[in-house]
Amino acid sequence: MKNVSRKDLLKSIRRVVIKVGSGVLTTDKGINTAIINDLAAGISDIRQKKIEVILVSSGAIASGVKKIGFSRKSRSVAEKQALAAAGQCRLMMAYEEAFGRHGSKVAQILLTRDDLNHRRRYLNARNTILTLLSWDVIPVINENDTVAVDEIKFGDNDNLSAMVTNLTESNLLVNLTNIDGLFDSDPRTNKDAKLIEVVEKVDRKISRYASAIPGSLGTGGMASKIRAAKKMALAGVPTIIANGLMPGILKCIFSGEKVGTIFIPREVTLCSRKHWIMFTKSAKGDIVLDAGAENAIVNHGKSLLPSGIKEVRGRFRIGDAIRLINESGKQVAVGMANYDSSDVKRISGRKTSEIESILGFKYDDEVIHRDNLVLADKIE
Ligand code: GLU
Repeated sequence: MKNVSRKDLLKSIRRVVIKVGSGVLTTDKGINTAIINDLAAGISDIRQKKIEVILVSSGAIASGVKKIGFSRKSRSVAEKQALAAAGQCRLMMAYEEAFGRHGSKVAQILLTRDDLNHRRRYLNARNTILTLLSWDVIPVINENDTVAVDEIKFGDNDNLSAMVTNLTESNLLVNLTNIDGLFDSDPRTNKDAKLIEVVEKVDRKISRYASAIPGSLGTGGMASKIRAAKKMALAGVPTIIANGLMPGILKCIFSGEKVGTIFIPREVTLCSRKHWIMFTKSAKGDIVLDAGAENAIVNHGKSLLPSGIKEVRGRFRIGDAIRLINESGKQVAVGMANYDSSDVKRISGRKTSEIESILGFKYDDEVIHRDNLVLADKIE
């Protein structure tokens, strides 16, 4: 999608996800009320333009640290979770007050990755958010840090905001952080670092720039912001990474000013179901393919049949996402399984016509149907 101006990209925005990082929302004195007031004013302006806004807010742990007076830098998982619980309500109180001054209401939504892994819970979360928007209430979303452990964590709120953008079919992701956007090196240590205004494609060079810019207060750093922007580009949605500490930043963005870094969406995108399989569901196991199955899947758009399976790793259930690995160990696709791993093990290497006699039942001919397969080269 070359030569599109920011103004053109912004013209058709009807719903936007705005993610704000801990480094913007909090200082060592706790919540940065001036910034929250500025955000509330900016978001109220956007809403006047009939654009719906969903806020993804970090800052719970950082604000809990101040509230509890917890000075130790090393923290156990339970301590971080407890700090998030203490900080989250203070954060929401600040939003209630700030938006209240503009006559707007907010609602708190706390999600874990597992909530979005299951199609029904995914749709429930979606319905709740859409209902709030229809009532003109601003959903404020954070990870449910109290219960989230590694396997059910989004990892960081950059990833969460990408999933929420997809979940709500929003047309733009704005990621507000504490630097001006993506630089070709870390601007905090290199005064010659150059801001990259437009990213057409997240390639190796862009990822290298990003990995040189770690975060401070938040967990993600620039690398996780870029990964989120790449996911959005593949869903056909632009991302703008900009400095949330700059007063009036949202006004600048929405009037099409060249602030921050904009990531242009791809022309060829994944449909929302495939995007969900690839990026929202977490893969629960691996299937190793023989060379024939790899060729059929990668070059001829075929489904995965039992005969092409060499090995099954991990435990998965019907409907779980799994990685497809070739004989040299490279991941070639992700797909959604039609059988549990224990059943796939029993039918591996066998003919489709034997499935029923081996298992005593048959759901489908395919272990993964091509409609539920996403090739790795589609997301390069
Ligand atoms: N959920 C965490 C918090 O609110 C932040 C995670 C992140 O910064 O990505 O404190």
